[in-house]
Amino acid sequence: MPRPMKFGRVFAVWRTSIIRIKKAHQVLSDKEKRAQYDQYGSTFDQAGSQGGTGFGGFGSGSPFGGGFGNGGQGFEFDLGDIFGDVFGGGGARTRTRTRTARGADIHMDAELTFKDAAFGVEKQVSLYKQVACDVCLGAGAEPGSSLKKCKTCDGQGQVVTNQRTILGTFQSASVCNDCHGEGKRPEKACKHCGGNGVIKKHSEFSLKIPGGIDDGETIRVGGGGEAGAHGATPGDLYLTVHVKSDSRFERDGFNVHSTVTIQFAQAVLGDEVAVETLDGEVKMVIPEGTQPGQVFKLRERGIKQLRGSGRGDHLVRVEVSVPKKISRRQKELLQEFGSLS
Ligand SMILES: [Zn+2]
Ligand SMILES: [Zn+2]
Repeated sequence: MPRPMKFGRVFAVWRTSIIRIKKAHQVLSDKEKRAQYDQYGSTFDQAGSQGGTGFGGFGSGSPFGGGFGNGGQGFEFDLGDIFGDVFGGGGARTRTRTRTARGADIHMDAELTFKDAAFGVEKQVSLYKQVACDVCLGAGAEPGSSLKKCKTCDGQGQVVTNQRTILGTFQSASVCNDCHGEGKRPEKACKHCGGNGVIKKHSEFSLKIPGGIDDGETIRVGGGGEAGAHGATPGDLYLTVHVKSDSRFERDGFNVHSTVTIQFAQAVLGDEVAVETLDGEVKMVIPEGTQPGQVFKLRERGIKQLRGSGRGDHLVRVEVSVPKKISRRQKELLQEFGSLS
């Protein structure tokens, strides 16, 4: 049942990390969770860009500027970066060019079954988002046209304005709007994207969600967000996982807890019982003289360790049912049993 996951390959830009936002998540009530869920639009298939205002991004030639590849391309996880909280992790992003704005981040939610969270799952994701123009490859220049010096800023990439006040003259510099800080402009703008280097497009890809992920945790796919205009660094994709509960199991870290009820005689004499685990039914030995509330450990039957190779354990608590009605014969035998002990 557990599918082996491979995390070997790491793409330079597609670094993915798990961010723990447990604390914040746990205090949310179901109602609040629902509100949050609704707010993010929230299904794997329909997720869209959030906070999508103000991508005016510019510059930089990431080879992955187009954001996610189309069709068939999957993303591997590098579990090396696990952050304490969402914002603590943000700083890890590498910016290739400081004077340009990067593409917007995308936030989405995914609902996972208890088992999928335990073992990991590959999800098909479809996003309508800004990607690099496939004609000019994000540069914004019509193929074949050359670059020339920007006249607006005289090739400086920034425009200096002087403001005279009673206290003197103040000078301020801002990024040139015409060349987006590049100092150069294509002679002809790309017709396909209008020179911005980006277009809106459906982008489909598969995303491997690692086994061991827990409810409320967020995966960051570096560079998985919207492509930045004019070749700017793409934003990141944040995927928050919601794990459905399973009435049979309770999760505690990477361990699973469940309860099995046995008869009084089984507890006294010992027996073998079937126990439902993440791997399906397994046989568990009930030793002679098992006490109510006693816990037995099924080693490595729990949840996959998020960052390790092993699994947690499955802890089975035994409950002993005391019969409310017994036959005359059973009564006689128990009375005899009682008199002997
Ligand atoms: Zn283009
Ligand atoms: Zn300029």
